[in-house]
Amino acid sequence: MTTQPLPGPGSSRRLRLLLALPKFGIVLLVIALIALLWLLQRNEVEEERTALIKDVLWLEQNLRFHLNGSEDHLQQLAVDLVQQPEPSRTFRLRAAHMLKNTPEISQILWLDATQRVIDALPSSTLPDQEIEAFGLAYSRQAFDLAKQFGKQTYSEPFFADGKRAFVELMTPIFEGRQLKGMLAAVFPLDTLLSSQVPWWFTQKYKVVIIDDNDIQYATKTSVEGNSAQSYEIPFDPPGRGLKLRVTSYQSGENMLPRILSTAIILLAGGVFWSLWLVRDLMRKRTRAEEALRGEHAFRTAMEDSLTVGMRARDLDGKVIYVNPAFCRMTGFDSDELVGTTPPMPYWIPEQIDETFAMHQAVLAGMAPPDGFEMTFQRKSGEHFHALVYEAKLIDGNGKHTGWMASVLDITERKHAEELARQQQAQLQFTSRLVTMGEMASTLAHEINQPLAAIASYNAGCLNLLARPGCATDDIKPALEKIGAQAQRAGKIIRRVHDFVRKSEPKRAPCSLKDVVDDCLGFIEADARKHRIRIETHIPDLPPILADRLMLEQVLLNLMRNGMEAMSGNEEADRLLSVRVEQGAHELSVCVVDQGCGIAPENRDKLFTAFFTTKQDGMGIGLSICRSIVEFHRGRLWADNNTNSYTGRGTIFTFTLPLETS
Ligand code: ADP
Repeated sequence: MTTQPLPGPGSSRRLRLLLALPKFGIVLLVIALIALLWLLQRNEVEEERTALIKDVLWLEQNLRFHLNGSEDHLQQLAVDLVQQPEPSRTFRLRAAHMLKNTPEISQILWLDATQRVIDALPSSTLPDQEIEAFGLAYSRQAFDLAKQFGKQTYSEPFFADGKRAFVELMTPIFEGRQLKGMLAAVFPLDTLLSSQVPWWFTQKYKVVIIDDNDIQYATKTSVEGNSAQSYEIPFDPPGRGLKLRVTSYQSGENMLPRILSTAIILLAGGVFWSLWLVRDLMRKRTRAEEALRGEHAFRTAMEDSLTVGMRARDLDGKVIYVNPAFCRMTGFDSDELVGTTPPMPYWIPEQIDETFAMHQAVLAGMAPPDGFEMTFQRKSGEHFHALVYEAKLIDGNGKHTGWMASVLDITERKHAEELARQQQAQLQFTSRLVTMGEMASTLAHEINQPLAAIASYNAGCLNLLARPGCATDDIKPALEKIGAQAQRAGKIIRRVHDFVRKSEPKRAPCSLKDVVDDCLGFIEADARKHRIRIETHIPDLPPILADRLMLEQVLLNLMRNGMEAMSGNEEADRLLSVRVEQGAHELSVCVVDQGCGIAPENRDKLFTAFFTTKQDGMGIGLSICRSIVEFHRGRLWADNNTNSYTGRGTIFTFTLPLETS
């Protein structure tokens, strides 16, 4: 597992700068786009206005052209009415012709000089009295003006029926200098617009005829919607304050730039918003990076200061990580170890099979949970003992991805333990020698007894043999006794020999009763010498798994201590008892004396090596006894003997587990 260096704080600053650049660019782009759109819009408005003015001028010219044509025809008719022989017929013919060709004129009236209607076409639609009624005021005014100036004059616009607006054109009829009559042409203004404003014009514009007071007289359009701009031009004549107002309308095409600009602004907003989100994201990332950096530094510091070797392997057994402590332990670099598969470079070639078997057991999840010991080798070839604990490597998603081992170099500890074990064994041996030395004299005395008995039996036999007629049956009992005494002496010697012989601890099934008997055999002579009674209470016991010699050593030591503690007692109070009791899972052996007891201040130091209160004592007996008992997975402790005759004394108790194997 290689650890990538994390980006430093400088890189996040650079990242922020890089992130600010597109923001700046987008702001500039949006400003440029808005300016461009504004310019385009302005150009378009100006172009529209120019087109509008052009169209309005054209319309005004067109209308004027048509009105001028009508004026000319009426003027000609006025001349002809005076000159032609049949004026009534001429009026009818020409007026009918004009009405047909000039749709904007709805009626032509022929008035006399007093303003009375001579004739009218069409006469059916407008009876005389009506003409007089609706047009009277305006007609008279126009009539008077035409008469006064002697030229064609338009009336002011007026509404008839409250709905339609009209103007009248008065054309005076002169004969010489005398006014003979007047031709009045009625122009409905809406008809003027509907007949003279082309369709395409109304697709783009609304045309309205208004006066100075903004009163609408006629209108024409086929578009609806919002007006963009309008233009007014005087419509005079027919004049008298009339104006043409043309209003342009926004077409669907005109919406395109607006939609475009809205889209651009929305897009820019979207980009800003996304940049804002990215910025937020980057901030979070930077914070996470900083936290990660701290975490990484902490992890590295932790890894470097660990004294326990750590090694991670994937599910196939390939090494994916080792910490510095493991590298120091093995002497290999991380690069030399990461990626390696079995056999690992730190495996001992001679032990490859066992190591590989353990490796397989770990991969199969069968590694002992309390750890296991292995021997590895350093790069230098030096062997070392390791205590290995294997655990599952679980990733952040809870997935089992491999195995993590913590490895402890226990070489030093092992050496120390071995040394301590050797010292302990040496001590035990020494202790046995000491015990034996102390007992040597009594044993010599003990052996003397069978030897003396053998000698006397032997003398007896010789005497018997010297007698004539000695029967072999007389000698046989004596010889048997000699043999028994020799066996007894041999047994004593063998016991001493066994006891002194140094051997490795070896647990085997043995009877505790035999052990106690053997001890009694050893100690009886000494007890007799010091006049100490020994009583035993041993029920029938199952065999136990123990090193017989070691147990004898414990019992002898406790019994000898008990006897020594009672050396100051009255003879009657010198009683040592050995009691064995069987519990559910263990046997307990009590050695009870009536001796001096243990002073409270010495109680804690009792089992410490070299603690003694005796002048010639070594102080190692009890400490050895405890380690022997613990070697047998038992316990050893001391209590005050509260039930003794003397009111003093000690009970040493040790337990031994009842095991079958
Ligand atoms: P040593 O007998 O050489 O002194 P031990 O380790 O056997 O060494 O005993 C240590 C000390 O424990 C003795 O010196 C004695 O003070 C005390 N002790 C041991 N057994 C008894 C006992 N039965 N009664 C009183 N004191 C005892």
